[in-house]
Amino acid sequence: MQPIRFLCITGPSGVGKSTVTHSLMRLTRLPIKRCPTYTTRPKRPHEVQGVDYHFVSQAEFSELAKKGLLLEVDEYDQYFYGIPFIEPRPDCIITHVVNLNGAKNLKRCWSQMVLSICLLSSFEDIKSRLEAREKTIDKNRLSSRLQIVRNELESLMTIGKFFIDFYVENNELSKTVEKVNQILSLCALS
Ligand code: ADP
Repeated sequence: MQPIRFLCITGPSGVGKSTVTHSLMRLTRLPIKRCPTYTTRPKRPHEVQGVDYHFVSQAEFSELAKKGLLLEVDEYDQYFYGIPFIEPRPDCIITHVVNLNGAKNLKRCWSQMVLSICLLSSFEDIKSRLEAREKTIDKNRLSSRLQIVRNELESLMTIGKFFIDFYVENNELSKTVEKVNQILSLCALS
């Protein structure tokens, strides 16, 4: 078996991927290193440039794609997202926070070196988290986001099984983070 070199935290938008990953980085003793995705979407007030995402202009994004520096380019809710192409490193576990397409492509690229963990919550919980996170979002945009979430929840259980290694319910945050850390520790150290 190949050692785990990448951790991929995936799941529908609003399920808690970024929140869980932030807490995991504080909790775990394993050498995990976050690799932020490039995006053309505007930064939210609590997000930090270069930590949560690399926020770039459309022109900068196109340049990165043209130079072949992105493993995957995806369009989501009118903005572009690009996973940086990073080679595996022996000294750390490179951690990506990505949607389902991203998880599929990371697995396709690095296969058994990737541990993919998908977070799950009910549609109702995700809806109230998105409403709380994006208080100023207009109604049409929110309903198109929620339709995307519905589709993502459906895909998780169908095509997801081909590239997701573990599903973890994200109800109580501290328990979710502990569970993710347990899975990571077992897989990374075995
Ligand atoms: P994602 O990265 O999957 O889009 P976020 O990490 O931004 O989702 O989380 C969406 C919202 O849900 C945030 O406001 C976050 O604080 C909240 N959240 C995340 N996990 C939980 C949880 N277990 N219980 C309650 N709220 C949560």
